[in-house]
Amino acid sequence: MHSLFTAILPYITSPISWIALIGGACLGSFLNVCIYRIPKGIFWRDSRSRCPHCGAPMPLWHNIPVFSWILLRGKAACCGNKISPQYPLVELFSAVSMVFIYWTFPFVIDLPSFQFDSAETLRFFHASIFFSLLLVCSVIDIHLQIIPDVLSLPMVAATPLIIFFHPELDWKSGLYGVIFGGGVLYAVAITYYFVRKEVGLGMGDVKLLAGIGGWLGYQSLLPTLFIASVTGAVFGIALMLITRSVNLKLKVPFGPFLAAGAMLFLLYGQQINEFLFYTE
Ligand SMILES: [Zn+2]
Repeated sequence: MHSLFTAILPYITSPISWIALIGGACLGSFLNVCIYRIPKGIFWRDSRSRCPHCGAPMPLWHNIPVFSWILLRGKAACCGNKISPQYPLVELFSAVSMVFIYWTFPFVIDLPSFQFDSAETLRFFHASIFFSLLLVCSVIDIHLQIIPDVLSLPMVAATPLIIFFHPELDWKSGLYGVIFGGGVLYAVAITYYFVRKEVGLGMGDVKLLAGIGGWLGYQSLLPTLFIASVTGAVFGIALMLITRSVNLKLKVPFGPFLAAGAMLFLLYGQQINEFLFYTE
């Protein structure tokens, strides 16, 4: 326990970890706006931040990630309506995730003299944008059981750009990733539809996995599907135990589990691989 503490101490005391935490919270605040506005198609309408209930403009100090929600006790100052705990939760999750993304891709060599590792910087921004897209898709999927095309299709279309900028991803990995990522889930969805005569797997999941394959390469697809299926099944069973009902048609959105699988592969793929296949 003591050695673990001394091992992580330099990470926690690094000022950049704290910058990543605060930056991640602000990013989460922006992602909340995306989650709220993109499904309504009003993303570009008005740049001011407004109360989701009465539409009153919100002062800046009501927009401080996590803290404002706690200080206002989860209620809007304008009209007293409840503000969903989803807002601080997304901000908190984004804050902590950005710290872990930075620890995996520590691109700052020396902060005072602005020395950065260029390959690590590209990997960091790739992971951050990928994380942001997946988080917005996941929360929208939880709410509405859809993954908007305006997010998944540009993600797939950006594949050549990602291949161009990413230090490791090559043409073959990215393009095979899109084809197999889309193709495998499409085959599963079509098979399910013909056997059960109903939609079991949405086309949103198909396009999301195509995007994941494009951004991380085809090598990410099996680990992502594996982690998503296992965690999804465990969650589904836990939900049945809690609600004490056996409902095999329970609607559990698959997007968040695909997102979790892809992020775990991106950040810890090597460690997971070593743990599973090299046990010496
Ligand atoms: Zn209000």
